[in-house]
Amino acid sequence: MALWNVTGARCTACGKVIPAEPDITTCPHCGGILDIEYDYDLIRESAEKNPFSARQDRSMWRYMEFLPVEGKGSRPLLRAGGSPLYRAEALGRKIGLPNLWIKDDGQNPTASLKDRASAMAVIKAQEAGRTTIACSSTGNAASSLAGNAAAAGLSTYIFVPSRAPKGKVAQLMMFGATVVLVEGSYEDTFRISAEAIDRWGWYNRNAAINPFLMEGKKTVSLEIAEQLGFVMPDYVAVSVGDGCTIGGVWKGFKDLYGAGLIDRLPRLISVQASGCCPINTAAAAGTMDWVPQEENTLADSIAVGVPRNPVKALRAISESNGVIVNVSDEEIMAAMRLLGAHAGVFAEPAGATGTAGVKKAVEMGLIEENASVVSIVTGNGLKDVANAIRAAGEPMSIKPDMDELLAAFEARGIKG
Ligand SMILES: *Cc1c(COP(=O)(O)O)cnc(C)c1O
Repeated sequence: MALWNVTGARCTACGKVIPAEPDITTCPHCGGILDIEYDYDLIRESAEKNPFSARQDRSMWRYMEFLPVEGKGSRPLLRAGGSPLYRAEALGRKIGLPNLWIKDDGQNPTASLKDRASAMAVIKAQEAGRTTIACSSTGNAASSLAGNAAAAGLSTYIFVPSRAPKGKVAQLMMFGATVVLVEGSYEDTFRISAEAIDRWGWYNRNAAINPFLMEGKKTVSLEIAEQLGFVMPDYVAVSVGDGCTIGGVWKGFKDLYGAGLIDRLPRLISVQASGCCPINTAAAAGTMDWVPQEENTLADSIAVGVPRNPVKALRAISESNGVIVNVSDEEIMAAMRLLGAHAGVFAEPAGATGTAGVKKAVEMGLIEENASVVSIVTGNGLKDVANAIRAAGEPMSIKPDMDELLAAFEARGIKG
């Protein structure tokens, strides 16, 4: 069934347009990654007739005209999207950026931004008449797919590298997925999952292979725009692994711009870990020819040596005149502490990486101190408790005795 608001799926490589069927993957002509395109006039009309401010739905589905789904049918059980945007004054003062905002996407149902994509994957799988979905993931796409599929009564096959943090693996098991831990890199994990998906014909939620996922992810930008009264910030910062998130963030702003709901586009701040930054390296060199790298960072969600969506990521960075920042693991852990201690936001390492990049960009003079910046926190810290403790340290520990407490305080110079 044709979607009322979608004109087709255009190949980012050869430019051909094909119908946006629910189970399309890559371009049938050349294998390139597809991009969903809309009729912006229809979107604008719909948004004018039924203003966002009058809508009840607080989830990502409140932006129905921007989404490639059949209007009818049931909405998912879990509430993906609708995360808060905080004016982070104390944290902003701390890093010398008074106009700082934090979009806390760790508050999604399975605690990462990936829920926006997985909610979409579940709907598209159902539209395609499928009951089993599979994916490979560094961890969050997996746990979010497992959760959203469980809520919809679908079964999941999940492939994650064995390094995935325990919190994410625990989520997978709890959501009833069939979980395969792969002893190897994310690249190895992706390869074996692709073979298995081919062999058993499951619905494919793999990043970049499924063009609808980015349409889910872009809702983070629709929310940011609405939460700021459709006045765009100067910059939006996000951490980058496969590149689907930054591509989705950019797609959201471009769709809003195309439909005439915003009158300018923000610049993106693309943040990677210096131990694994193939996309930023290519972007800095001004080339689309990225080179694989090792996966040397504690930020497991963005430890992606062979990115699956470099095309859309690199285009997003270049089209937005983006700022490119790489941060060390120490800088990521420092940002985790800053977000926690000055904004009350608990982020996993990759979740704090965008903010680490913002801080560094200010220090390096890459962005102006009076700029308005939205930093997206992409995942919650409880997913990776080991690295949280590593970043924040161990607490003091005493026997239940006042003398011990006094001694412990004195040893740390605490006056009480
Ligand atoms: C997946 C993920 C990212 C990066 O998204 P990509 O699409 O891989 O670039 C960033 N942070 C968290 C917490 C993630 O789970």
